[in-house]
Amino acid sequence: MHQLYPQVTHHYRYELNKDMHVAAAHFIPHKAAGSCANVHGHTYIVNVTIAGDELDESGFLVNFQTVKKLVHGKLDHTLLNDHNDWFDRHDPNRFPTTEVVARTIYETIQRYLDTLPHKPKCLQVFVRETPTSYVVYRPKAGER
Ligand SMILES: [Zn+2]
Repeated sequence: MHQLYPQVTHHYRYELNKDMHVAAAHFIPHKAAGSCANVHGHTYIVNVTIAGDELDESGFLVNFQTVKKLVHGKLDHTLLNDHNDWFDRHDPNRFPTTEVVARTIYETIQRYLDTLPHKPKCLQVFVRETPTSYVVYRPKAGER
C-alpha cells in the first residue's frame, strides 16, 4: 500500500501519515443510492494526515497505534451502519457514504488530538472506497 496521496500545504514542523486497510460492509439507506442501498462490502484504504510543531514526552507527534485503534479498531470487519455513534440512517449528513466516513474519521481523530497537551492537528483524511473512487476530507481553514 505505498500509495501517493494528495498533499496538504501547512507550516507545521512534523507531519505524520497513517495508512489503514478497513474491510467493512455498509448500505446507503436512500433510494437515490440504487444498488448501494443493498448491503455490500469494501476494503477501504484510509490515510490520515496529522501535523504539529511539538512532540510528546515519548518523542511521538501521535502514536501510530492509537490512530489505528481509533479507526481500524472500530470499523474493521463490521457493518458501518451499526455504529450509531458515527452514523444515522435518518440523517443524510450521517449516512455511511465515503464522504461521511472521511469526515467522521476526521472528527474522531481530532477529538482525540484535542486531549493531548501538544495539540496536534488532523489536516486531511483520505478514504478510497473502490479502485476508482475516493474522497478527501479537510477541515476548513478556520477549523484548524
Ligand atoms: Zn459502498
